[in-house]
Amino acid sequence: MTDEADTSSAAAPPPQRCGLVAIVGRPNVGKSTLLNALVGQKVSITSAKAQTTRHRITGIRTVGSVEEGGAQFLFVDTPGFQTKHSAALNRTLNRTVQGVLSDVDVVLFVVEAGRFGLDDAKVLALMPPGKPVFLIANKLDAVLRRADLAPWLKGMQERHAFAEFVPLSAKKDADVQRLLGIVQPYLPVQPWFYEQDALTDRSERFLASEIIREKLFRLTGDELPYTSTVVIDKFEEEGDLRRIAATIVVERDSHKGIVIGNGGERLKRIGSEARQELEKLMDAKVFLELWVKVRSGWADDEAHLRSYGYE
Ligand code: GDP
Repeated sequence: MTDEADTSSAAAPPPQRCGLVAIVGRPNVGKSTLLNALVGQKVSITSAKAQTTRHRITGIRTVGSVEEGGAQFLFVDTPGFQTKHSAALNRTLNRTVQGVLSDVDVVLFVVEAGRFGLDDAKVLALMPPGKPVFLIANKLDAVLRRADLAPWLKGMQERHAFAEFVPLSAKKDADVQRLLGIVQPYLPVQPWFYEQDALTDRSERFLASEIIREKLFRLTGDELPYTSTVVIDKFEEEGDLRRIAATIVVERDSHKGIVIGNGGERLKRIGSEARQELEKLMDAKVFLELWVKVRSGWADDEAHLRSYGYE
């Protein structure tokens, strides 16, 4: 090597950043749209490895490469903000939210640009102190008079010491890329947790659990606590046939009832919608068997819920 300037840079490997990012906000502000755009694909991902920690990873975005440095953004699952439940369960849930948020690296607090209501305020109240919280003013494309945003922004800055203010449209790719660039310096310098191509390397088995999970939560609305999980018991390939057996694991008998529905109606629908989507994704015929089981060994959580009078 003849270029002197190169010797120093060769000695220090380029920094790799990796960290946890949470996306929060009241329903309908565009959180899932933003997550999908950030991750760059429709189906979210959960890793078996990630589930052994406190967090469920719903999406991974890797920018750059090991050689050049770059960043890996791990998006974590945060339970939705529940409005239909009793105050007791809300309090339990809020604690869960705060638990998740207290050890992520960045929180993206999403609102609709120019609006801030009681529902938004309830979510903002959950932000742990000292955590970098970005104000994501989404649906900028729907704001007719941009000039009105200035006083709104000033008001927002008085509500919380936001680390960054990012007006954007989750539906505009350039905006989403810009957001990644703003988040990047907030992630700790540490090796990536996942392979660079973690997202493209998903197994069909894994895909099956994700699709069932997606249907489960979509068809139960916010009746079902997010701690419910899907376990694949059997995954067999016979030519272009997949035989899949899965168990939906819930915490309580009442949750089991929610999943099963009247006369088994809901479970049937979860199964048939999941099967149809899996057939499309795998380009194969799918036989899907679904079971619902109440998890044992959750005594602590049960006691916790009961202490708030929730049965
Ligand atoms: P979530 O409940 O917070 O996850 O919200 P969703 O991602 O489901 O979005 C709620 C609605 O807002 C959907 O109809 C989206 O298409 C719409 N939406 C999301 N982002 C934008 C945006 O940037 N601009 C506009 N105009 N609509 C958006």
